[in-house]
Amino acid sequence: PSPLGPTPKLVIDLERLSQLPKEKAGALARYAATIQSQRGDYNGKVLSIRQEDLRSLAVIYDKSPSELTEELINWGVLDPEARRAVDSF
Ligand code: C2E
Ligand code: C2E
Ligand code: C2E
Repeated sequence: PSPLGPTPKLVIDLERLSQLPKEKAGALARYAATIQSQRGDYNGKVLSIRQEDLRSLAVIYDKSPSELTEELINWGVLDPEARRAVDSF
């Protein structure tokens, strides 16, 4: 196992996401809302997403997964720990 512990999860801060301007975060907000609706998971402050979903989002934002991760960390939507979740990409 890694000396840093298990691979962290990608956890979206939904409260922060809702405060961001639509021009930036609209696509991510719609994606997260779709996942919430598919799960029936409406009342959370955070949403754990699949690694695979970050790849799809990177395509939507026309970035690499690690570039998008940096952007989401800058927005305050992902924890900096999330960097370790995309190292394996
Ligand atoms: P599915 O992919 O066929 O998954 C069926 C059920 O298996 C899920 O029901 C959930 O109870 C469980 N499951 C599948 N993968 C995981 C996982 O990585 N972690 C956990 N804890 N459970 C897992 P659920 O949550 O009601 O989701 C229903 C359907 O909604 C899923 O069917 C999938 O098609 C979609 N979905 C839900 N969450 C996500 C997501 O984060 N990303 C994507 N791409 N689809 C999702
Ligand atoms: P954790 O993964 O560290 O999550 C901590 C808390 O963040 C959760 O407490 C929940 O309040 C929130 N949270 C994280 N992801 C989501 C999400 O996608 N939707 C919503 N609505 N809330 C989320 P909670 O529910 O009491 O769970 C405590 C711990 O139990 C979790 O810690 C995790 O270790 C485990 N757990 C809960 N559900 C699952 C699951 O579906 N799969 C796995 N593998 N572990 C789970
Ligand atoms: P988790 O539930 O702790 O699952 C960790 C990893 O175990 C997942 O990473 C996935 O690789 C694998 N895994 C767990 N359950 C299943 C399953 O039913 N089918 C398959 N094929 N793999 C499974 P991943 O995909 O990156 O997901 C990260 C986290 O996102 C999950 O942590 C869970 O908190 C959340 N999540 C992902 N998909 C779903 C879903 O369909 N429903 C719900 N409720 N949560 C999900």
